[in-house]
Amino acid sequence: MNSLIMFSGGIDSALSAYKELTQTNNAVQLHHIRMINKENRHTAEDIAVRNLFDALQRIRPCRLTKSTWDACKESRFMSADMHIVAFTAAQVCVNDRSIQRAIVGTNLSDVLRGQDVIQRGAIAEQIFDIAKLDSKAIWTRNIFELNDEQIKEELPEELYNLTHSCRTPRRDHSPCHRCKTCKQKNL
Ligand SMILES: [Zn+2]
Repeated sequence: MNSLIMFSGGIDSALSAYKELTQTNNAVQLHHIRMINKENRHTAEDIAVRNLFDALQRIRPCRLTKSTWDACKESRFMSADMHIVAFTAAQVCVNDRSIQRAIVGTNLSDVLRGQDVIQRGAIAEQIFDIAKLDSKAIWTRNIFELNDEQIKEELPEELYNLTHSCRTPRRDHSPCHRCKTCKQKNL
């Protein structure tokens, strides 16, 4: 089976990739969307993705592809990152008919944040189903029943330390230590 993992460089996508590489024999393709945003997060994410990919390759060979989305331009239709991820995943599946599963990782704290996240996830699935045309790929949302602390235990330390989560990184791409995700991760 061929799996596509939507790979942001954060802990959820790192855990999805790690599990797919260690617990299955599936051919794994990672796809990173460079989401250009005002906070300049994409540069820090790029670094995390490159470093994580190098480390994951040492576990088992996989592929990495990238695309770019300019999130600075206003979009009324795809305002949530998850929707852009779903649309892009569908494009990748249309171009590569061997992909059978498109995987996105979410953890328990995202889901516990409420109905909004669940609804956004449901819309993302619909976007994927419409945009994938006649591709046979299935949208798979890996919801890890784990909080951030438990994910830290599931991931090898080397991989965890390479992940990126800060919402507003500093000019030198290091974490700000102030935003919500930095606090969650105790950075
Ligand atoms: Zn931060």
